[in-house]
Amino acid sequence: MSFKHLDISRGVNWVPALFIVIYQSILLLSLPFYLYYHPPGIGVVLAMTVLLYLSGLAITAGYHRYFSHKAYKTYRPIEIILLFFGSMAVQGSALRWSFDHRIHHAHVDTPNDPYSIEKGFWYAHFLWLFEKPKEIEPKVVGDLLQNPLVMFQHKFQIPLMIVTNAIAFFAVGWLFEDYLGAFVISLWLRMFCLHHFTWFINSLAHTWGDKPFSQEQSAVNNYVISLLTFGEGYHNYHHTFANDYRNGIRWYHFDPTKWLIYGLSLVGLTYNLRRIDKASIQKRMVNERKSLLLEQLKKCWYVKREDLEKAVLETSEKVLSKLGEVQNLKNLYKKAKKEKESREYLISLKRELKSLKKGLQADWKNWKKLAKTIMRMQALPA
Ligand SMILES: [Zn+2]
Ligand SMILES: [Zn+2]
Repeated sequence: MSFKHLDISRGVNWVPALFIVIYQSILLLSLPFYLYYHPPGIGVVLAMTVLLYLSGLAITAGYHRYFSHKAYKTYRPIEIILLFFGSMAVQGSALRWSFDHRIHHAHVDTPNDPYSIEKGFWYAHFLWLFEKPKEIEPKVVGDLLQNPLVMFQHKFQIPLMIVTNAIAFFAVGWLFEDYLGAFVISLWLRMFCLHHFTWFINSLAHTWGDKPFSQEQSAVNNYVISLLTFGEGYHNYHHTFANDYRNGIRWYHFDPTKWLIYGLSLVGLTYNLRRIDKASIQKRMVNERKSLLLEQLKKCWYVKREDLEKAVLETSEKVLSKLGEVQNLKNLYKKAKKEKESREYLISLKRELKSLKKGLQADWKNWKKLAKTIMRMQALPA
């Protein structure tokens, strides 16, 4: 662990720094004895999992996708629930969290990024919390400064963190008649796990994975990280399209935060869910992959480089133009439907769209095949 980039010239952020060091040390030293002499019951472990999810989702669906990115809209009672469990996560106030996060997106990988991965893995993971934080700039979080619930939570953040956790502790202890288990497992171990799971987004999700959407910044996509971060592991997508309420865009992507927001929209508790359309996502992917493949081909010496370069340019162009055509035809169809055009005209448009999509599918397949072939080629040894 390197402390090289830790800048304490403005002072140490003593309260969180001491809290993190002391609670984690005591927990790690005492946990083996606790597990040996007093193995927790299933109830306490279950309660820990439920509380982990509630406080974790309050961070990802609340602090992150709602307060920081405004990826959807909701009502006051839901905001109260998000802030309540957000306080239980012990990660400061939604206002402070969102300010840091908006700055992170605006200045990613630069010295102004509050948890820049350029300053090292451990700095991005949690050492940045030891530095005195920069003052909150009203222009960055103007919307949140107008929100009385956010301001209330910010003002009383420390008492709220204590009260919400005390409620959880007494409820679990009383329910399962195990106050020690409630204290060690449902309170401290749960907090420890959630802290590291959230910190993984700033460290691992900027280190270990692939970059299908934007090569120029450090955020990566990694399925494994998503399993630990309630779906936040598709971080390269997120840094490319930050206002999408989803991070995992495919149905099989593990993103419980997305499922929660979508599920709440079905019963009318969330609305105006923002999502990037499929064609824009595909266009972005093709353009990114094109530059990556051309870069890769520059390193190859034993293949017909020029032919492959030509194939990359031609195939990507084909896919991009078909994507554009599909998009235009879809808009035309929508307009025709709105203007109540004849049934025959609508059917002919639909038929045209179907055949265009079929052609796009074939081109997309060729594109993927070509990309795979080039990526498998061995690079010229240095
Ligand atoms: Zn990030
Ligand atoms: Zn974000």
